[in-house]
Amino acid sequence: MRAHPGDYELVAPGTLPAVLSLLAQEPGGWLPIAGGTDVMVQYAAGELPARKLVSIWNLPELRRIEVLPNEIQIGAGCTYTDLREHEVVSREFALLPIAASWTGGIANQNRGTIGGNIVNASPAGDSLPALMAYEAELILVSIRGERRVPYTSFHIDYRKTRLAPAELVRAVCLERRFSEYQGYARKVGPRRAQAISKVCLAALARLGDGVVEDIRIAMGSVAPVPLRLRETERIVRGQRIDPPLVQLARRTAAAETRPIDDIRSTARYRAAVGGNLVAEFLGRLSAGKIKG
Ligand SMILES: Cc1cc2nc3c(=O)[nH]c(=O)nc-3n(C[C@H](O)[C@H](O)[C@H](O)COP(=O)(O)OP(=O)(O)OC[C@H]3O[C@@H](n4cnc5c(N)ncnc54)[C@H](O)[C@@H]3O)c2cc1C
Repeated sequence: MRAHPGDYELVAPGTLPAVLSLLAQEPGGWLPIAGGTDVMVQYAAGELPARKLVSIWNLPELRRIEVLPNEIQIGAGCTYTDLREHEVVSREFALLPIAASWTGGIANQNRGTIGGNIVNASPAGDSLPALMAYEAELILVSIRGERRVPYTSFHIDYRKTRLAPAELVRAVCLERRFSEYQGYARKVGPRRAQAISKVCLAALARLGDGVVEDIRIAMGSVAPVPLRLRETERIVRGQRIDPPLVQLARRTAAAETRPIDDIRSTARYRAAVGGNLVAEFLGRLSAGKIKG
């Protein structure tokens, strides 16, 4: 059944402290709405349980990217277009603007936010593997103050996160230490544009004298939460990439995924493609065909 606007209340306090104070008055009672590109889909389908919405769209405190000497802090309210257009993000954290470029069409990229992608917590969220690979930290904020949590521990289970009621994601922090790394990202969907991922990959590696000194491989849509492939990383780290290692990594990655059958794909396909993407990444890495 379609929703009726008269059944909903929407307020826009306009500043972060005012939003936090409203959330604190009734924890869990108000649903934050940023770009609305996930919330409005639920609304239009008549599937939005929340009746009281508080707008956090364009709050100045959430819509800025701070470049500090050792890290950058991307406000949770930054859109995909903000990420694509930011010079430091594009130069030092290229996996993020690549993922942003896959996310819906231009209208969606002008409206959808990184914070919304994180808290919506779909395993298919396209920017989430990049955040895993960079080992981002999140700054969460409530009326009681701020806390920092590693992004790798933020997603607890399918669509369950560590965010407390009355808390917002304020910013995503990325350490500025990836200049020596080569990055690779790939989305596999039913078509190239406007498609939800069947599998998506974000990976980083640093080579020294042909040896893999460090490697981070993260995947979406292959488990209830975005997944770091720790076992695959372990067998590759410290090795030279050769065909037997690529085959071992392919099998290990496929075995490490925990996909399901759903309307978009099958578990078998997802595991096989996940393995193939890892093999593709390692093949290109050893051939010197990717950079930064
Ligand atoms: C046509 C279309 C195509 C799409 N294509 C893709 C795609 O290819 N890949 C992809 O990953 N996604 C896609 N999406 C989903 C969506 O655009 C993204 O998930 C987007 O990042 C959501 O951001 P938002 O600001 O619109 O979130 P909203 O809809 O405003 O909010 C989503 C959820 O996050 C919460 N939230 C938002 N910001 C915060 C915050 N700062 N703190 C706490 N909670 C917060 C809200 O309460 C809500 O629960 C698509 C959506 C549409 C409509």
